[in-house]
Amino acid sequence: MHSSRRSRPPRRPAKDFSALAVRLAEKSLRGSPLSRAEARRVLACTAQEMPALLSAVFRVRRAFFGRKVKLHFLANIQSGVCPEDCAYCSQSRVSKAPVERYRLLPPRQILGAAENAVRWKASRLCLVASGRQFSQTDAVSLAGAIRTIKRRHPRLEICCSLGFLPEPQARLLRDAGVEAYNHNLNTSERFYRSICSTHGYAERLETIARARAAGFHVCSGAVFGMGETPDDVVRVAFHLRKLGVESIPVNFLIPVPGTPLEGRESLTPLLCLKILCLFRLVCPRSALRIAGGRELHLRSLQPLALFAANAMFVGDYLTTGGAAAQRDIEMIQDMGFEILGGAPPEGKACVAGRVKVISSRKAFRWAGPSSAGAAS
Ligand code: SF4
Repeated sequence: MHSSRRSRPPRRPAKDFSALAVRLAEKSLRGSPLSRAEARRVLACTAQEMPALLSAVFRVRRAFFGRKVKLHFLANIQSGVCPEDCAYCSQSRVSKAPVERYRLLPPRQILGAAENAVRWKASRLCLVASGRQFSQTDAVSLAGAIRTIKRRHPRLEICCSLGFLPEPQARLLRDAGVEAYNHNLNTSERFYRSICSTHGYAERLETIARARAAGFHVCSGAVFGMGETPDDVVRVAFHLRKLGVESIPVNFLIPVPGTPLEGRESLTPLLCLKILCLFRLVCPRSALRIAGGRELHLRSLQPLALFAANAMFVGDYLTTGGAAAQRDIEMIQDMGFEILGGAPPEGKACVAGRVKVISSRKAFRWAGPSSAGAAS
């Protein structure tokens, strides 16, 4: 007799990676977690298996983010003044890298950064300050600048990354209109003590919890290429899933001369791509951003990263230059993806010149049509 409940065929082990990749995408779409063995298999897949992986990952990306790419604009509002010793960071107290050192930029320069973000059609302005923790006086000044930005550009999202976050500052920034707070896990709990001795993983988790309690969207990601094992990559991906962070920046170490990790070369373009694919499968609903080091490490594979990631920075990073933004816009469009909010108008923000973000105290000025080089 015919039964209304159709019995499922028994699940057979995947004979090849293509079948496994399809199963992983289906798991991810259903919201089921990958097993650790599956996650490690993603990181171990070969160049020949990449088309199957990318196809699977793109299904997940398309389901939650379509073909949109969200642009972020980064502003380094306080540079090179940090007492911490994060080994990957050119602004740490142990770094000998010749980065600029300045305290909190005056409000007019922060407003200038916002104007440039809007010109670039960035959806989000990321205000990043070096340091363990912001002072209350600086937080009040920053909150004032943010209120002005939100009055002028109410649709521009603002994310702050100011280190550890005391509750009064969290409230102040939230009231000023800040939507998101960034505090990266950076790596696995196991490996964390190898890259930083001045604070611990637990403190980072506390800040993330405080940001969430204050009502921020949480942005938290990692840096790869610091000597971590594949298991560390899997652990940090699973931890970010568990935390349910809304946004994940994936950084690839730029081994800046003068930092303890100077000269560290452990990444390949293919590995970077696999890491992004893994994060997409493990955290399907989180916005995934290709962040620092993408030009250096993904190299010619950068366009393929868009099959996994749905966001990227335009302009420059904290102390190192990014690719020419016009090339980034072209890459997105050439791949058939769409910039969230529309592309920057040609000849204005995009073709005609570059925004100088970090190279001097005169930062955040429009650098004009002849300035095609990246800021240092
Ligand atoms: S706390 Fe932030 S600014 Fe300070 S050394 Fe670490 S990463 Fe760099």
